[in-house]
Amino acid sequence: MTPAPTLPLLGFAAWSGTGKTTLLEQLIPLLVARGLRLGVLKHAHHDFDIDQPGKDSHRLRKAGANQMMVASRRRHARIIETELAEADFRELLASFDQTSLDLLLVEGFKHEHFPKIELHRAAIGKPLLFPDDRDIIAVASDQSADTTLPRLDINDLDAIADFVCDYLAGCQTREQGAGNGFLSVEAARDTILAALTPSSGCTLTPLAQCHGAVLATDLVSPINVPPHANSAMDGVGLRSDDLAAGRWQLVGEVLAGQQHHEPVLAGQAVQIMTGAPVPPGVDTVVMREETVMADGWVTIQAPIKAGQNVRQAGEDLAKGAVAIAAGTRLGAPQLGLAASLGQATLPVRTPLKVALFSTGDEVQAPGETLAPGHIFDSNRFTLMAQIRGAGCEVMDLGIIPDDQAVLRQRLAEAAASADLVLSSGGVSVGNADYIKGVLAELGHIDFWRIQMRPGRPLAFGKLGDTPFFGLPGNPVAAMICFLQFVEPAIARLQGRSWQPLRLSALASERMKSRPGRTEFLRGVFHQDGNGELRVRTTGPQGSGILSSMSDANCLIEIVPSQPGIAIGERVWIHPLQGRLA
Ligand code: AMP
Ligand code: MG
Repeated sequence: MTPAPTLPLLGFAAWSGTGKTTLLEQLIPLLVARGLRLGVLKHAHHDFDIDQPGKDSHRLRKAGANQMMVASRRRHARIIETELAEADFRELLASFDQTSLDLLLVEGFKHEHFPKIELHRAAIGKPLLFPDDRDIIAVASDQSADTTLPRLDINDLDAIADFVCDYLAGCQTREQGAGNGFLSVEAARDTILAALTPSSGCTLTPLAQCHGAVLATDLVSPINVPPHANSAMDGVGLRSDDLAAGRWQLVGEVLAGQQHHEPVLAGQAVQIMTGAPVPPGVDTVVMREETVMADGWVTIQAPIKAGQNVRQAGEDLAKGAVAIAAGTRLGAPQLGLAASLGQATLPVRTPLKVALFSTGDEVQAPGETLAPGHIFDSNRFTLMAQIRGAGCEVMDLGIIPDDQAVLRQRLAEAAASADLVLSSGGVSVGNADYIKGVLAELGHIDFWRIQMRPGRPLAFGKLGDTPFFGLPGNPVAAMICFLQFVEPAIARLQGRSWQPLRLSALASERMKSRPGRTEFLRGVFHQDGNGELRVRTTGPQGSGILSSMSDANCLIEIVPSQPGIAIGERVWIHPLQGRLA
């Protein structure tokens, strides 16, 4: 599960000399006593050094280590040299382990925007900061202040601790309130998978029609492959207990497909071709290039190792072993393997029927004359290809107009005859109410706002017993939701696991994101001269820009804890080859 979107932050702003650190030193134990797990981020003078001359870590760093990690059983610290550019505030925040903290206290970073308490003492002789600093949410002073902000006594640490706890409680309530229907990508996927059970239909299908189907039961090998020990070379076969002879009489020739039943005795050898079964007694083959044959005798020019160049019976697959596991999608190698075991048919899962329709009065089928303000229906064609690519049959229900009665009837029909129903459009906040009513009558559907971009609105549930996805209308969002949610759901219904390839690449350009949200950018990756994968985006990333998808060979995933990606930083990519073909 992903970490909480972002940890609540609370800063302390003051003129120097106010005693920020001293106050924090006294406040922290009070907060810890109330059960809070705290992180602290403090800005310091640019020449600060936590290390000390003479310490091993200091010596190694001064010797040229750019990053130095010193670790013991009780604690560890990493010192990173940022000679050229100061670390970005959000990167520093993201480097905290968000899952093991409740609150981050920040000292300094006065130019960054986040909620702060102002600390003020009259004796310093400076004006209050809050009138000019809109991030200040409360003032703790030993003097009266003319403000509507909450006021605290800077010397009453218990009151300040109370305020911090109330602030944190407020953050958590807001998060839950906003979180009504808000889900991380992983949480949404887990919820979907938990709601689905594999379908049980199975069809015995001729091998030539099995491409892309899912094997329903383990294919157990009925034979040894290869069936007999055979020669891996064109050459001469002899006995490994007779290698000292030095010269052997040739007593026959075995071609592929033939068998030589006569045992080969000491002092004898046979000529043998690649794939031909070795005769009784023969267990070693010498390649022809290393032999000299004359007058029915052979001598050998190279050292011989007992057992060389012979493939053992069952070496590829032993009789009784599982050749292909249930749940495997059958591609070229699996079809060849099944054929090599003599299988003319295979038990495969009956392909799922997926009903698909587009919604929206503005959506028209390609080929029609486009009315003003209308758009062509692209989603049905991208999704149709994605459904087929996942090994399913498509029931194309066309475009359903924004009409409740028609929608109700078509949805009910689809749910009755399909294994899965997909729609696109009509689930974002603007139109959710209209489609929501019909879906609620026919089943139970949840409307989610996934913490991802693109593809935030997603409806998922069941119409009767039939799973239903309401995908967003924006063309890129619909495709990405399919890749992230429908693809794994189909795999589950097909009884197989879903493990798409995810690789780490170096960013060739800066990429923006928002902490707490998964960002899927469309990317192009390649391998550079040093063997490193590098990735750039396809350019403008609007969720309606289908060409961004068409130009991409991968999705770039910026995870919620990454505040953005700098040039040269590592980022996840999901290659699309084979997934959108
Ligand atoms: P909606 O989710 O219905 O609010 O639609 C969001 C955006 O996607 C709107 O700009 C729609 O016009 C567009 N859209 C909806 N359905 C389709 C479709 N089938 N093909 C292309 N664009 C669509
Ligand atoms: Mg719409």
